[in-house]
Amino acid sequence: MKTLRLREGKERSLLRGHPWLFDSAIAKGGADAGETVRVESSQGAFLAWAAFSPASKIKARVWSFDESQRIDEDFLDGLVQKAVQSRLLFQIESSGVRLVHGESDGLPGFIVDQYGDTLVLQVLSCGVERFKSVLVKSLMKHTGVERVFERSDTQARTLEGLPPSTGWLEHPNAEKKTRLQISEHQWVLNLDIEQGHKTGFYLDQRASRRRFADYAQRMAFEEVLNCFSYTGGFSVAALTGMRSAGVLPKAGHVLSIDSSASALEMAQSNLRDNGFDAAHYTMMDADVNQSLRSFLQEQRQFDAIVLDPPKFAPSQAHVERAARAYKDINRLALQLLRPGGVLFTFSCSGGVSAELFHKIVASAGADAHVDGFIAERLQGAMDHPMTLNFPEGDYLKGLVVIRK
Ligand code: SAH
Repeated sequence: MKTLRLREGKERSLLRGHPWLFDSAIAKGGADAGETVRVESSQGAFLAWAAFSPASKIKARVWSFDESQRIDEDFLDGLVQKAVQSRLLFQIESSGVRLVHGESDGLPGFIVDQYGDTLVLQVLSCGVERFKSVLVKSLMKHTGVERVFERSDTQARTLEGLPPSTGWLEHPNAEKKTRLQISEHQWVLNLDIEQGHKTGFYLDQRASRRRFADYAQRMAFEEVLNCFSYTGGFSVAALTGMRSAGVLPKAGHVLSIDSSASALEMAQSNLRDNGFDAAHYTMMDADVNQSLRSFLQEQRQFDAIVLDPPKFAPSQAHVERAARAYKDINRLALQLLRPGGVLFTFSCSGGVSAELFHKIVASAGADAHVDGFIAERLQGAMDHPMTLNFPEGDYLKGLVVIRK
């Protein structure tokens, strides 16, 4: 068994149960990519079993803090079973569910989303890569799903020194369709696991889409702007609420903006498949920042605006620039809202805390000379759990602001 010996005083985060070990904490030792290592304090006391990542700044990710635990097929099968079973507690109103959420489920660098009869996974660490076939077997056993697709083509994988890897891992007979449909709340939503972002869909916004539909109904929105709409989840939500409120079919319009033409095509099919007439929606292939500025010049106003941008701050180093970018779009959006209008605003940057995001939106309001009630704080859906020991899991945060 290979060993990693830590520098003096560097065992503190492991003792608190945090699963990452940085390069700077290691005095000596190493192993092959993904190999299980015994992590020891500077005094040689056992701290954890971890998977070694030679190319990454995060040199090892913990499998277990229990010295008697063997890191083998049974152990990993137990983790997969626990992750899958825990989703039953979360009461998810969808056939699209995140079954494994990396560190939060004890499987650092492993993401698994279920879309009905298909599992889509991302392998983002050397440890998971080494055990990939074992993990796939467990997933199939505990879910009964037979179609497994891999989408390990993210930047995180590059940082691990692993080449991209995408395609079918398992599929019965010749059935290889990658355009799938899930049911979320009462909607049908189309997605593409091969071409789409991440594993194909943003399951993490499920609960917030539901909330947006509730507001649309309660406040009877007529003019809605969905910025960074991707495949139009928030647009479907808005029109659903507007239909229930009786705004449709006489009035009601949702404008979805995204810079990806293929995402907008999918958004179009999502709106159509949920029974909405094309008179009630428009897709705009454009840059959100520029569009918001033009709307302001044109003195357009909206009853509700969604701002769900991509990650502006992938890491701590980008936080300042990201803060300026968030502030800018939030300032513009607040100015474009009618009094009484509702802003759903999000950040999915791990480097931007909920507190900082609140400050950014507050200072956007100050610059816009607009005040608002903070009606709610939002976070990722329950199947993307945060845990006490892993604060980095708190990546998605949102605010609902009602303009005064
Ligand atoms: N709200 C969506 C997810 C948004 S993901 C949902 O619920 O599914 C962020 C989206 O922003 C992506 O679709 C990406 O194509 C788009 N995007 C990124 N930069 C953009 C820009 N400058 N202008 C418009 N869209 C942009």
